[in-house]
Amino acid sequence: MIAKNSKIIYILEDATNIMFNWLDSEESNQNKNVCVRHFFEVNVEKHMRECLKEAKKAFEKNEIPVGAIIVKNNKVIAKNHNRKEKTKSIFDHAEMLCIKTAIKKSGDWRLNDCLLFVTLEPCLMCLGSIIECRIKKIYISASKQTYSEEIKKILKKEKIEVEYGLLKNESEILLKSFFKNKR
Ligand SMILES: [Zn+2]
Repeated sequence: MIAKNSKIIYILEDATNIMFNWLDSEESNQNKNVCVRHFFEVNVEKHMRECLKEAKKAFEKNEIPVGAIIVKNNKVIAKNHNRKEKTKSIFDHAEMLCIKTAIKKSGDWRLNDCLLFVTLEPCLMCLGSIIECRIKKIYISASKQTYSEEIKKILKKEKIEVEYGLLKNESEILLKSFFKNKR
């Protein structure tokens, strides 16, 4: 994962901002960038895999398979999946449940140092809550058609960083097979 000839690396991170303090100054800047990117990619993929596990739990319970997690300082502080059918509550989307847990755990409604990972593009209700609690960045796996363009515009306007497409195939396959079974 880390370049061969880098001896000691201190990693101070707040998940997106990884600062490498290289004691071995022989490393070129270019090499450093490659390492930073690689380190980060490994982590985000791991987090999205965890989301997918949540989505699969929803699938098994006959709920629309959507999973979400919230990460703070590279630690998962909330994870959940859609539970709308079970609780008969329209509020119990994966993202909403995660936001509630994250607020409770951090003792603050401001989640501006948190990252949200979700297997499907958020609905308008969840997007509103994401804006309210000031989530720093969202990783969205699959995107959906309805309101997708509007959601992208709002995210941009609100200056919420977003990245689409991480493990997109897996998320889409899960959603497709769910709706196929429903027919
Ligand atoms: Zn939602």
